[in-house]
Amino acid sequence: MAKCAMGKMRRKGLAIMAAQTVATSANASAADASVDLGPATGLSCRECGTRFELGPIFACVECFGPLEVAYELPAGDPEALRAAIEAGPNNIWRYAPLLPVPADVASKPSLNPGFTKLVDAQNLAKELGVTGKLYVKDDSGNPTHSFKDRVVAIAVEAARAFGYTTLSCSSTGNLAGAVGAAAARAGFRSCVFIPHDLEQGKVVMAGVYGGDLVGIEGNYDDVNRFCSELIGDPLGEGWGFVNVNLRPYYGEGSKTLAYEICEQLGWQLPDQLVIPIASGSQLTKIDKGLQELIKLGLVEDKPYKIFGAQAEGCSPVSTAFKAGHDVVRPQKPNTIAKSLAIGNPADGPYVLDIARRTGGFVEDVNDEQVVEAIRILAQTEGIFAETAGGVTVGVTKKLIENGVLDPSLTTVVLNTGDGLKTLEAVSGTGQTATIRPSLDAFRAAGLA
Ligand SMILES: *Cc1c(COP(=O)(O)O)cnc(C)c1O
Ligand SMILES: [Zn+2]
Repeated sequence: MAKCAMGKMRRKGLAIMAAQTVATSANASAADASVDLGPATGLSCRECGTRFELGPIFACVECFGPLEVAYELPAGDPEALRAAIEAGPNNIWRYAPLLPVPADVASKPSLNPGFTKLVDAQNLAKELGVTGKLYVKDDSGNPTHSFKDRVVAIAVEAARAFGYTTLSCSSTGNLAGAVGAAAARAGFRSCVFIPHDLEQGKVVMAGVYGGDLVGIEGNYDDVNRFCSELIGDPLGEGWGFVNVNLRPYYGEGSKTLAYEICEQLGWQLPDQLVIPIASGSQLTKIDKGLQELIKLGLVEDKPYKIFGAQAEGCSPVSTAFKAGHDVVRPQKPNTIAKSLAIGNPADGPYVLDIARRTGGFVEDVNDEQVVEAIRILAQTEGIFAETAGGVTVGVTKKLIENGVLDPSLTTVVLNTGDGLKTLEAVSGTGQTATIRPSLDAFRAAGLA
């Protein structure tokens, strides 16, 4: 009960949305026993543990806590499970037995994201003074060039199971593109919402797939508030909002990052992970994925530390972490790292718990450091990251300089998006010289 009351206090922001969801769940008739989401057995409240049937709901009616997917995970020989996974497709569906998706998911129309490269970043290691192993998990290699394809792919399966025909979301940019593309491929209508002032690459990427794209005059938190109103209104009936009413399923997609990183390390846990924070969903679900691998015996149990990364101009979680608070005070974002610009992060308190429990830290870097880190990563490893990747690499650099991250261990840094989507961040970059097509002109340029 005390835990529940605390949850209530920490999650006041969810209360309005939760009240609306309770109203909506009454007419979400699609949720019945015939729903096949594979090993998923129900939803459970993260705060008070109350169980619910699988359905398009995301907040607990008892305490407003967030709901998450509960499973009957495969029992038995870890060796056999590892072999089955390794024999699966080269995308996230190789982990279908650990996800809320039907067993035949790989045969359905999907963008089939995942199994992106884990780059052995020896040049970056040298640059940052890492003496252990440093890897970049490069999720810019996903179909719409950000990690969001993972979470959307799972939400699409939930939308199918619950009978939705329109996919929607509130987005900081990458999610809108991922939803638009997945909807086109899987045969849904889409109508997605973004702040009106995003980078051109994000806007074009979100619009090109043919769904409706609506710019909202306001920041992401305004967009999100608008979407929760829309869910509670007849206007939004029959719409699956991947990161609102389908959020418990959506979040599970981030677990595949944990699975892939460990499998690519030869079924081992890394010592340290540096993960960007927008709403905090990705970070909390990567931790959930690592815990599952330990529980299933797929990796050997050992301590790992999770580090969260934010931009200084939107740093509600790092600010709370450093102040020793367990509540996250909302901020008004002002940073070039627009994909991470959520001032009121839904999973912020859980990020604090995980960083503290694992002995990690939550740090932030300013916009100048973000741009510097984008250039360092590009010039050492040939990886062009979007601003969110600049945030994680920049935070890694800062944590090493401050002696918080141990450079002698194995560290995995996430790059969650493609630099082509945030060209504005490095707008000064261009031609070294512009010359006439003659050897004389090239000689005069002094570049030989
Ligand atoms: C959405 C996003 C994240 C993380 O989002 P969470 O809401 O914390 O799960 C990280 N990087 C990029 C590029 C994103 O688009
Ligand atoms: Zn509850």
